[in-house]
Amino acid sequence: MIMKVAFIFSTIILFINTASAQDMSKMKKHHVENGFVNIHNNYKLPGFSDMVKWQWERIGMENPNDIEYNFPMGENDPEFLRQNRTKNTVTWIGQATLLLQIGGKNILTDPIFSERASPFENIGPKRHTKPGLALEDLPPIDIVVISHNHYDHLDTKSLMALRKRDGGDKTVFMVPLGLREWFDDTNITNVIERDWWEETEFDDVKVVSVPVQHWSRRSMFSTNDTLWCGWVVVSPGFRFVFLGDTGYTPHFREIAEKYGPFDLAAIPIGAYEPRWFMKFSHINPEESVKAHIDLNAKRSVAMHWGTFVLTNEPLDEPPLKLKEEREKAGLSEEEFFILRHGDSRVMSEPDK
Ligand code: ZN
Ligand code: ZN
Repeated sequence: MIMKVAFIFSTIILFINTASAQDMSKMKKHHVENGFVNIHNNYKLPGFSDMVKWQWERIGMENPNDIEYNFPMGENDPEFLRQNRTKNTVTWIGQATLLLQIGGKNILTDPIFSERASPFENIGPKRHTKPGLALEDLPPIDIVVISHNHYDHLDTKSLMALRKRDGGDKTVFMVPLGLREWFDDTNITNVIERDWWEETEFDDVKVVSVPVQHWSRRSMFSTNDTLWCGWVVVSPGFRFVFLGDTGYTPHFREIAEKYGPFDLAAIPIGAYEPRWFMKFSHINPEESVKAHIDLNAKRSVAMHWGTFVLTNEPLDEPPLKLKEEREKAGLSEEEFFILRHGDSRVMSEPDK
């Protein structure tokens, strides 16, 4: 009799567990058996034939890689950044690498300081503009946030150099779901893996993984087996959102509803042509302005341009297009500002 009751009981428990696991997976629409998917806009990941079509179309076009770009470098004061912990600052280093000082924390986004965004030394997209702040000149970094595993966002050399410089476990690495294994293989510990909407508190600074529309791949057969995300940082006096790489989706409004209005949004403006191929995964300047509005951001900083050629448009086109779109939307220069590589801006006092 006892055995029978135990059997029935365990069956019920098993059923409840299965049911709740199913509910969970229904709730988490972006989770699938072998990884992750996008959930808005009938997202379509371009396939092999699209890739061939894109490359075919490029034949005969001017390669933006062959153009000489001489972007003027910005100004920053590494000593000020090392010492000053009382104000909110943003420094654009290049691509999606930004140094933020929020609520006394030094936060670095998608650090890449290498010559190429590539697994190889001599092939792959090369850097056209040097980092606006050298890795050695950074203040000690408290938190690194990683948006996804593409080579212009997750750079092995830079992460290992950072870990070495700041001594082992001092820096916390916030990564999207599935990326911990890569960090384990790279011998970087102190990693916190987060699903969309999961929050982590560091004193009175909250860091949240938020959904964006993109994809992931590190090697031939690893498409979408790790998640992609943006990051929100909330301190008592300042709200910041970093979008990483993203297509245009209702996620921006969802993020704003939960964590807006933002004092500052870091929004990508480059890597958008040709639209038929790139639109699912990369916003163009017109959509960057819409993102700024959807996010309910007081101010936005342009990023993900002028550093590596990844797509068809010339590297200096995104800021020109952004200016046009900003004017059309009636936004001031200050509301969606463009920094030179290395420019640093004090945003506000933290206790405002
Ligand atoms: Zn990407
Ligand atoms: Zn990118």
